[in-house]
Formats: sequence, C-alpha cells, structure tokens
Amino acid sequence: MALIPAQDGERISGALIIDMRSGQFRFVQAKAVLLATGGGPTMYRYHTPSGDKACDGMAMGLRAGLTLRDMEMVQFHPTGLLAGSGTRITGTIIEEGLRGAGGHLLDADGRRFVHEYDDRGERATRDVVSRAMFEQMRRGNTGPNGGVFLTMRHLDAEVVRRQFKGMVERCLDVGFDLVSGLVEVTPTAHYMMGGLEFEPDCQTTLRGLFAAGEDTGGVHGANRLGGNGVANSTVFGGIAGQRIAGWVKHEGALAPPDTAAIDSAVARCLSPFARPAGDPAGIRERLYSIMWDDVGIMRNRSGLEKARAALEELAVEIEHTGIGPATREFNLGWHDWLNLDSQILISRAITLAALNRGDSRGAHFREEHPHSGPLDHSAYTRVHLQDGRLAASTKAVAFTRVRPGASLLN
Ligand SMILES: Cc1cc2nc3c(=O)[nH]c(=O)nc-3n(C[C@H](O)[C@H](O)[C@H](O)COP(=O)(O)OP(=O)(O)OC[C@H]3O[C@@H](n4cnc5c(N)ncnc54)[C@H](O)[C@@H]3O)c2cc1C
Repeated sequence: MALIPAQDGERISGALIIDMRSGQFRFVQAKAVLLATGGGPTMYRYHTPSGDKACDGMAMGLRAGLTLRDMEMVQFHPTGLLAGSGTRITGTIIEEGLRGAGGHLLDADGRRFVHEYDDRGERATRDVVSRAMFEQMRRGNTGPNGGVFLTMRHLDAEVVRRQFKGMVERCLDVGFDLVSGLVEVTPTAHYMMGGLEFEPDCQTTLRGLFAAGEDTGGVHGANRLGGNGVANSTVFGGIAGQRIAGWVKHEGALAPPDTAAIDSAVARCLSPFARPAGDPAGIRERLYSIMWDDVGIMRNRSGLEKARAALEELAVEIEHTGIGPATREFNLGWHDWLNLDSQILISRAITLAALNRGDSRGAHFREEHPHSGPLDHSAYTRVHLQDGRLAASTKAVAFTRVRPGASLLN
C-alpha cells in the first residue's frame, strides 16, 4: 500500500504491502519495484472496471513524491448497461461493435439523436457519442433508470443473435431483449489516459521505481483508441521487464528504507481502527455524485470549482471516518476505506487538472470553450503533492516527430 524510498530519498527501497489474510504489514525490500496496479476510474457513479481498481498505484506514486500527468483525460465508454442501482452489472460494457454493426441510440421518445452532434452518428468516437448521450440525460429525455436506449431491432435478428451471442445473453440476464427490444444504457467511466510521468523505458523519477500500463500517463495523448489499453500494458510491461532485469544486474542495490516513511504509511493505514465506525459507503455515494455531475463527461469552471471544494471536504471527512475496533484479518471494510482514500486523492488530482485545462480536447470537454486552443502551443497538465497539498503545473509538449497540422504521410 505504499512505495518506500531509501534513506537517501533518491531511490526506491521497496514496497509496504498488507497481507489481506492476516492483516499484517510486510515491507518487501527490493532493488527495483514495478508499479502496475492498473488505474481504473471507479470514482464515477457508472464505471466499467472491477472494484479492486481504486487508482491505488497513482495515489502511491503521488504520496511518494512523483508527478501525475494528463489526469483530466478520463475516457467514457458510451454504452454501459443501466439495470438499476441494485446490481453491480450496471455500468458494465455493452460492446462497441453493436453500434459499429448499425445499432441505434434512441431517446425516451424513440428518436435517434447522435446525428445532431456528429455526421457519423452512432459510429462517431467515444467522446462524441458519450457527450450526445449525456446531453439527452441532462435534459431528462430518458428511460426509467435515467439513461437512453440502444436498439438492434431494425437489423436481422438471426445475425444479431449469432454475432453478439454474449451481449444478447448478458442483456437477457437483467431483463433486456437486445435482439428485438430496447436496452437502457449510459456512458460509463472506462479508462484513465492520465497517470504517472515515466520514461519510454518505464523508469520514473525515483530511481529503481518503474511503472507500466494504466498507472502511467501520456501513452494515448488525450484519447485512446479501442484495443490500445491492452497493447499499452503488454508493450510497456515487456519493456519494463527487460529494463528491470538489466537494472537489477548492473545498477540496482538493496538500499536501507526510510523508516519514517514506513511508520507514517502504517499509521495512515491503521488510523480508521482508532475511530468509531462511520459511514464510508455514504462518502462513496457522495464521491460518485460529485465526479459524475461536475467532473465527468461535460465540465465547466463553476462545476469544477464546486467539485474541488466538495472533494476537499470529503478528504477531511474520510480522515475522520473510522471503521471501529475490528479485526484486521480479511477485513474488507478496512480495504474499502483504503480504496476510498486513494479514490478521493485521485479525484482531487483529476479535478485540479481539469480546472487547469481551460479548453477542450480529446476526452476533456469544457462547455465554455468547446474547441481546442492553438495546438502549436500545446501543453500537458501535471499534478504533484507539495507539503500535503496538491499543486498543478503545465509543461509544453515537445513535438519530436510531427507538428500539429503536418503529416508523416506524403
Ligand atoms: C470492462 C473492460 C473492458 C476492457 N476492454 C478492453 C479491450 O477490449 N481492449 C483493450 O485494449 N483494453 C480494454 N480495457 C482496458 C484494459 O483492460 C486495461 O487498460 C488494462 O487491463 C490495464 O492493464 P494493467 O496491466 O495496467 O492493469 P490491470 O490489468 O488492471 O492489472 C492490475 C492488477 O493490479 C491489481 N491491484 C490494483 N490495486 C492493487 C493494490 N493496491 N495492491 C495489489 N494489487 C492491486 C488489480 O487487482 C489487477 O489485478 C478494458 C477495461 C475494462 C475495465
């Protein structure tokens, strides 16, 4: 649950982990550490990743003094299943191929609407379709659960049944008929394009600490093409493995840990046991609402300012919220508290980065400035922790291969 720097503060000394079965802490001293906990924007009301994802790696990186980049770039997948609040299947993906195969999105009146936003209609990019849907949802032109409808009923039923067998079954499980009926859907938070700053060989600024996959930022720019998430993890996971093997052999050394960092991480993790049981579930509900309403698919300054203030309050509240004097052995309530702590920290980073980018690009959409600013002066956003407070900055993009407007193709 924490990256532990060496006493010299310049290199990694190891990682502090919790054995969930016993609840005991273990410090694993290591010449090199690979951070690869997989991001996952689970702080939004509707999200696709599983509950084990809590942006822990990014939070550990921030707490260890590393910098995050592009945190405002959160990708929403247009079609998450909306099956009511009582089921975890809500938010999970209905595959994109359905729209590719000719599926339509309809509002509550049975009217197609995506063409009003983009000539490509339902086949437009994820960010465009998500915004069109969110706009309908904000207007209240929705189904019983507050979403819009996906339908394939105008297509050949046999083809839909054969080509999308798994999706047909998934929908049926929650009472929707994908072949000849309507399936209620919502955009759903899917992927973090932002993450830790890192080098092409997966090194971070803390020597011996490497990062790969969705914990890292900058690989996809402001948006991600479908299929490139697994490619990112596979390619950079492989690079990290090779680089770490060389590093351990030639440069790595076991370094004595900063014991104050261990003590402080243990104290932070154990703090909820010392306080009377509070309501972490209520805090999570409020987190979902703040992020969905004001830091989600469409953003504006006043909403982001409101969210920033509300998240600061949640950060204080979680610090005063306990789980009571429970056992540490396999205590899921404890791990939920730890996850929530990370999610609130990373939500604050997303909000700060979103405030810092006043224009729109890729997955980040500012209603008061719906177009990109001058691309020649592109900069990316950065967030780090300074004396316990989040601080933001920007860094100019170095165009090393191709400048905006130019092309590598003749
Ligand atoms: C529903 C869904 C569908 C997707 N479909 C596609 C697709 O079709 N194509 C594509 O390219 N991408 C897809 N993606 C994205 C892709 O799955 C991810 O980008 C990719 O898996 C990230 O890989 P990773 O190695 O960084 O992390 P992961 O594969 O997520 O692995 C991280 C691991 O770390 C563990 N972990 C997290 N926190 C901690 C902690 N504190 N301590 C210990 N362990 C921890 C997690 O449990 C997990 O096992 C999809 C994502 C989702 C959610």
